[in-house]
Amino acid sequence: MTKSEKMAELLLPNIDKTPDYYENLYPERNLPEGARVTRFAPSPTGYLHLGGLFGATADMLTAKGTKGVFILRIEDTDKKREIEDGVTGIIEGLEAFGVIPNEGVTGLGTEKGAYGPYTQSKRKDIYQCFAKELIKKGLAYPCFCSAEKLDEIRSEQEKAGVNKGYYGEWACCRNITVEEAEKRIAAGEQFVVRFRSPGVETNKCYFEDVIRGKIEMQENTQDVVILKTDGIPTYHFAHAIDDHLMRTTHVIRGDEWIASVPIHLQLFKACGFKIPKFAHTAAVMKEENGGKRKLSKRKDPEAAVSYFVEKGYPAECVIEYLLTLLNSNFEDWRRTNKDASIDSFPYNLKKMSVSGALFDMNKLNDISKNKIAFMSADEVYSRACEWAKTYDGDFYAKLTENEAKQKAIINLDREGKNPRKDIAKWDELKNYFSYFYPEYYEENFTLPEHIGKEDAIAILKAYSAVYSPEDQKDEWFSKIKDLCEPLGFTPNVKEFKQNPDAFKGHVGDVSTVIRIAITSRTNTPDLCAIMGILGKDEVLSRIERAIKFYEN
Ligand code: GLU
Repeated sequence: MTKSEKMAELLLPNIDKTPDYYENLYPERNLPEGARVTRFAPSPTGYLHLGGLFGATADMLTAKGTKGVFILRIEDTDKKREIEDGVTGIIEGLEAFGVIPNEGVTGLGTEKGAYGPYTQSKRKDIYQCFAKELIKKGLAYPCFCSAEKLDEIRSEQEKAGVNKGYYGEWACCRNITVEEAEKRIAAGEQFVVRFRSPGVETNKCYFEDVIRGKIEMQENTQDVVILKTDGIPTYHFAHAIDDHLMRTTHVIRGDEWIASVPIHLQLFKACGFKIPKFAHTAAVMKEENGGKRKLSKRKDPEAAVSYFVEKGYPAECVIEYLLTLLNSNFEDWRRTNKDASIDSFPYNLKKMSVSGALFDMNKLNDISKNKIAFMSADEVYSRACEWAKTYDGDFYAKLTENEAKQKAIINLDREGKNPRKDIAKWDELKNYFSYFYPEYYEENFTLPEHIGKEDAIAILKAYSAVYSPEDQKDEWFSKIKDLCEPLGFTPNVKEFKQNPDAFKGHVGDVSTVIRIAITSRTNTPDLCAIMGILGKDEVLSRIERAIKFYEN
C-alpha cells in the first residue's frame, strides 16, 4: 500500500466501493444524437423564486427540444439553511406551472429514474467513494486546521501582502503524514478533506459558456474543501460527482457560479470526468428609479412564484411571459405562430440575455389579458372556480351558486372578434363583475362633470317609461336614441361634434347616465346584455335609486 492509499483507508475506512462500481451503475445514457441532459438543482432553503422557475424552464425546454432528460436534484447539503417544507414547495411550485422533470425527486421521499438517489443527503457514500479515490491518488488530503488556525493564516497573509486562502506553502496540512493524521484522529481532532489544487497563479484557464461565449479566468490555486468535517460534500465537489454520474450534458445555472468554474474544471479533471457544457444565466432584474436591480426575495412579493398562483394568473401565461425573457426571438416566433404550443418553439440557450432580463408586470398582464380574452366562458368559469376554491371561498360560493348566470356574465362581449381584454388574473374577476353582486360593490352614481343632475333625472325617468326587459340590442339602442331629441340631446355624435353648443350632449351621454345607474361604472361590456342578466326588477330598482340620489 502506498502512503496515499494508507491515508485513504485511515480517513474513510467504511468506503469499500470503487468509482468503477458507480460508473457501471450509472452508465452513459442511451439517448438520440444531440439529446441534452439538464438538471434543476435547487437547495430547499426557501420558497421557489421566480429566477428558479426561469432557470427550470430553460432546463425543461433545452431537454424537451432535443429529446433529452430534465432532472430535478435536491441539493440539501446545508442542513442549517434548510426549511421544513422546502422540497414540497419547490415541487409544487414547478408543478403549478407545468414544469415537470422527467427524472429526479417527485415528492417527500419519492423519486423516479435510474440515476438516483437525486437528493444529495442520500449520496454520502458516493461522494466519499470519489473523495477516497482522490486521496488514494494523492490529489486530496485531510486538513485539521481549526477556525482559529485559518484566521491566523489569513492575518499573516495580510501582513505579507499576498493572496488569502489555503494554498501552496500556506496550506500547512498539505504534506501531513499518515502517522500524524492517525495521531490527531485518535486524539479526537476533526478534519475536512481538501483538494490539492494543481493551479498556478499566473496561469489562465478557459471555458466556453453556451450563453456568454469564451470566458478566460485565472486558474484556481486554492485547496478547496471537498468533504466537510461531517463527511458531507461541499457544493463544488457534489456538483462534479452528481453531474458526472447523472450524465448531465448542460449545466444551466445562475451566473453567480461563474467565479467557481476554475475550481470545477480542476475537480472534473482530477476525477477523470468529461467536462459538461456550462450555461450561466443572468438574474431576473427589476426596474427601479430608472435603474436595474435583481428581483429581491425581501422587497418584491412577485419574487416568489406562489405570488402568481395566489393571484390567479393562468400558469401558461406566466410561462409564455417567461419565454419572452428567456429567448430574445420568442416574440417574433409567436407573431408568426399564433396558436402554436410553446413546445414547438425552437428554444435556444444562445438567445438568452447576458445582462439580465427585465421583469415587467405590465407585459405579463397584457399577455395574460389577451389569453384570457380568447378562452371560452366555460373555461374561464371552471378555472376561476378552481382558483377561488382555494383562495377566495366567498367568491367560490357565489360562482357556484348559479352556474348558468355566472357563465352568462363571463360570456359578456366574449365571443366576438375583438373580445374585451380586462382580466389578467382570476382575482380580478370579482371586482370586474362586482355590480352583479350588491355585496361586492358600493353604488356610486357620480356623473361625469358635463352632465347635470336634472338632465340625468329626466333621462332616467324617460327611459324607465319605455324600458322593456324583452328588448334586444337593436331595439334597446333605438329606444335610447329616441330619447335624445325630446331631452335636448342628439342621437347623432357627428352632428354633436359639428355643433356642440346646439345640444346638451349626444346619445353616448344618455347611455352613460343609464350605465351609471345600472352598474355604477362608465365603462362596461354590453349594457343591454347586462340588464338582461340583472332582470327587470333589479334594473328598475337601480334606476329608481339613482333618481332618488340625484333628487337629494
Ligand atoms: N444548489 C445550487 C443553488 O441553488 C445549484 C447551483 C447549480 O445549479 O449547480 O444555487
